Amino acid sequence: AAKRNGLRFVEYDRSQEQQMRERYILLNELRQALQTDALHIVLQPKVELISGRAVGFEALVRWQHADGHIINPDQFIPVAETAGLISELDLNVLGQTLSVARSFQQQGITLPISFNTSSIDLLLPGYFDEMLSMIRASGLPPELLELEVTESQAMVEYRNISLQLRQLLEYGIGVSIDDFGTGYSSLAHITDLAASVLKIDRTFISRLGESENADHIVDMILRLGDRFGFQVIAEGVETEQQRQLLIDKGCLYAQGYLFARPMKPEQALEWVRNRR
Ligand code: C2E
Ligand code: CA
Ligand code: CA
Ligand code: CA
Repeated sequence: AAKRNGLRFVEYDRSQEQQMRERYILLNELRQALQTDALHIVLQPKVELISGRAVGFEALVRWQHADGHIINPDQFIPVAETAGLISELDLNVLGQTLSVARSFQQQGITLPISFNTSSIDLLLPGYFDEMLSMIRASGLPPELLELEVTESQAMVEYRNISLQLRQLLEYGIGVSIDDFGTGYSSLAHITDLAASVLKIDRTFISRLGESENADHIVDMILRLGDRFGFQVIAEGVETEQQRQLLIDKGCLYAQGYLFARPMKPEQALEWVRNRR
């Protein structure tokens, strides 16, 4: 038995070492990707539920690995966050978002584009000013931009980032609380939340019509939006049934594979043009 336990211990150790090695490789490759412009953005349309009309886009980062395949952000954003690379990454994405927004504007498409921001960025001295100066330098009207920060991160750091979020709102840039419903906002915060949009988390949308709890949570978020003046958008809408349930509940906006997948900017532009 002692031998078996010993073996198991060795196996456990080896897999941890393996994980650390993989993480180390990933980090080095990510550093290189940032240097070599291997990160690019795709855009996913946000639509008005009833008409299907586009009302905006979300910029999502993609990593084109040296071996050609595309790596999704869930696989490297958390690593970038713990390794101190997230701010560089997010500013890189912001820069691309601004130039795409400029190009869309020049081609007559004036819809807001949102970009994701880690709360780590907003806590870093200088980040906020850098972000604002990039936005100002772009010459874009602030109404064409929106920052998304997840509810879980925003609530943990609320005291430290709410001033910045409020400043963005005052400047005219939208602030969207992402994955709303999963991050334990207190009601005290809701009443003066520095935000313009609540994004209902995909997990609730995917259980609509199957779980009474999901139903109640979606209803509650829609009512919070009404009561406190937030726009509400449902994310991850995949089925016609979900779309219909959301319309019945009075939800106005959505995002999800039912309408469009994230696309290269040129394709997103075409997508909007074909729908007007
Ligand atoms: P998120 O902000 O909640 O973004 C929505 C994610 O759901 C995206 O995954 C999108 O492709 C996916 N999605 C959209 N519609 C559907 C649907 O109908 N069904 C399903 N199953 N999925 C859908 P993605 O692009 O892999 O991004 C994952 C997460 O990575 C994002 O979640 C966001 O938190 C983070 N992220 C992405 N880009 C950036 C970035 O530039 N900076 C930072 N800090 N985080 C980012
Ligand atoms: Ca988001
Ligand atoms: Ca989300
Ligand atoms: Ca998410």
